Amino acid sequence: MSAYAIPLWDNPTMPVAGTYALFPVRRIYCVGRNYAAHAREMGHDPDREPPFFFAKPADSIVPKGGDVPYPVATKNLHPEIEMVVALQTGGWNIPVEAANDCIFGYGVGLDMTRRDMQGVAKDMGRPWDLSKGFDNAAPVTALRPASETGHIGSGTISLKVNGETRQKGDLADMIWNVPETINYLSGLIELKAGDLIFTGTPDGVAAIERGDVLEGHVDGLDELTITLV
Ligand code: MN
Repeated sequence: MSAYAIPLWDNPTMPVAGTYALFPVRRIYCVGRNYAAHAREMGHDPDREPPFFFAKPADSIVPKGGDVPYPVATKNLHPEIEMVVALQTGGWNIPVEAANDCIFGYGVGLDMTRRDMQGVAKDMGRPWDLSKGFDNAAPVTALRPASETGHIGSGTISLKVNGETRQKGDLADMIWNVPETINYLSGLIELKAGDLIFTGTPDGVAAIERGDVLEGHVDGLDELTITLV
């Protein structure tokens, strides 16, 4: 029998609302520029681009939000409010019509972004990894099972900073909806149970500072509240 050479760490997990169950997180995929107005504010033409993806480490989640430390190596931290999809099954080349069957449930997340570092990466043709995937880069709510919510394709998504609405959109305005996203992504990698997909953010992204209180909302899901410390 083999032993681990160093102590094994705990797998990252998210609570499941209304139960004591925990959802184990395997990988985190994020869709870029999935709302037309946000694509435009970032200087891109939303009509011409197929979906593209980046990833965050599973252990960058901050389950249930709360205090989130301001990260090092940035002076321009942007929170992006997003609906999060959690998968209970996966596969390759999942048809659009079968994609919802893969979904365990839904949550609300913040795709925290070191925007200045990302800007340098874009300018120099370097990877985005560390501008998107750093410690505490993915605060998330508990998951609501799809068996409770039904499958979610429309509804308000919004972010308040210190009580003022900064981002507001409708999930129906996604360029690539959730089944289409699962279909496309599963043509690039094998999706598996435990994977999360951050589905993109509406327009209105801007910097936050230490002490700011953020309230993320998606109709029918738990509220995500964080304080940047
Ligand atoms: Mn994002």
